[in-house]
Amino acid sequence: MTDTLSLALATWTGRQRDRLLADPLFLPVWQQRGRVTHIGDGIAQVSGLDGAAADAMLLLPGGVRGLVLDLDRDRLGCLLLGDGTAIKAGDPVSVAEDVLRVPVGDSLLGRVIDPLGRALDGRSPPVPDRFDPVERAAPSLTERGMVSQTMPTGTTIIDALYPIGRGQRELIVGDRATGKTSIAVDAMLAQSRTDIIPVYCAIGQRASAVADVISSLKTAGMMERAIIIVAAPDAAPGLQWIAPFAAMTMAEFFRDAGQHVLLVLDDLSKHAAMHRQISLLLQRPPGREAFPGDIFHLHARLLERSAKLSAAAGGGSLTCLPVVETQAGNLSAYIPTNLISITDGQIVLDARQFQSGQRPAIDVGRSVSRVGARTQHKMLRQLAEQLKLEYAQFLELEAFTRFGGLVDERTRHTVDRGRRLRRLLAQRHGRPRTLGAEVALLLAHEENLMDGLDLAVVERVRDAIVAGVNGTDPTDLHSLRQIIADARERAT
Ligand code: ATP
Ligand code: MG
Repeated sequence: MTDTLSLALATWTGRQRDRLLADPLFLPVWQQRGRVTHIGDGIAQVSGLDGAAADAMLLLPGGVRGLVLDLDRDRLGCLLLGDGTAIKAGDPVSVAEDVLRVPVGDSLLGRVIDPLGRALDGRSPPVPDRFDPVERAAPSLTERGMVSQTMPTGTTIIDALYPIGRGQRELIVGDRATGKTSIAVDAMLAQSRTDIIPVYCAIGQRASAVADVISSLKTAGMMERAIIIVAAPDAAPGLQWIAPFAAMTMAEFFRDAGQHVLLVLDDLSKHAAMHRQISLLLQRPPGREAFPGDIFHLHARLLERSAKLSAAAGGGSLTCLPVVETQAGNLSAYIPTNLISITDGQIVLDARQFQSGQRPAIDVGRSVSRVGARTQHKMLRQLAEQLKLEYAQFLELEAFTRFGGLVDERTRHTVDRGRRLRRLLAQRHGRPRTLGAEVALLLAHEENLMDGLDLAVVERVRDAIVAGVNGTDPTDLHSLRQIIADARERAT
């Protein structure tokens, strides 16, 4: 046996090798030719490839690739990763590779690509460093390190109350159009002040929404450092299905090189729906909400790859912000609960708050961050210590006073103070705040420097503070107090 053949044999399954050795007439899988027996809805059934293993890449006419998902005794089901409209029953199929690989490397930076790494920005194809499998094992326990460095999001409520550490997985969950994407994009823009590489993966998102994300990154001068992976709603179901895995592999390249990445998966409800559609077409038994039973494992397997590596493993990190859409705020639907249990916390967005103009519409009671607290900057930690309780109490009191109940002076003061705090925390999307600005705003609240101001004035002072802080050191309280005083002076 030649060296290449034994190498090839070693990479194929044991079953294949045993049959080859037992039966000299049995063709090795890379020489087998199968036939399409049935095709439609982005899926092909193939017969005659009895050596193909799960996850193998098939080659169909027209250069269309297919991923083996289903193995049966005499046929296999494969997911088309391209347009299969020209493929007919009876067409030949061969095995191209043992697993699906996608291009990775520095050359993807600044590019808009599809999940297979093909250019979507009209430029020449990126020249990758190498090709990595889309299905990779998550880092082992010994390779993992503690989440110990912070990842600013530029959204004051999140940085103050739900700090996120590098390597953490924080779910962004909320109804349609409640600002989910905006929070994730702001987090990417906030990395203009860090060494974290933003990677955005759009799964079944409207083209106009993806164009907005790209233009935000371009305006902020961040596009050259970012990667945008797009699986459009009209792309092959297989491409949308593979997108988060491919994006994860592309992000892992930087994590494994000791660098830091932020991966946004927008959104996994679309991915789950695609998985359900494909599974039903493959005639797998449906379970709760008609999703197949393996959807939990699929998403857990994906998100486990987001990690902080130990110093011995290079010290890189991959932070992940998966997005999931809820219906009528129902967090206990199947996919949201699954993802809540897989991630290290969630930022919950509330449709009612959003409609009443409170933006970002973060539900302070139901959001949580489980591992990031120890990475929070010490100034923010000190100032935010009592904030959550205070804010929750204010919301309760406000609801009470809204019904016109008689209130005493102290309650009125608490409510007024809370309303000013709410204005301080409000922020428009597309303008992530610096750490210094966040500390200054909380300081202004903590030291009652906004007392007596109308809400409209608070808003002006807030914007003046944010503009005035610039690169001021967040621990330099003296300068921050001065900036607050100046801002108050100018705005009143
Ligand atoms: P979808 O469900 O369609 O994906 P989404 O939850 O991702 O929506 P976004 O697209 O981020 O929501 O935001 C919805 C709309 O709200 C957008 O028009 C956006 O401009 C606006 N918006 C989001 N955040 C803010 C904010 N902080 N201040 C003002 N407007 C905002
Ligand atoms: Mg969105």
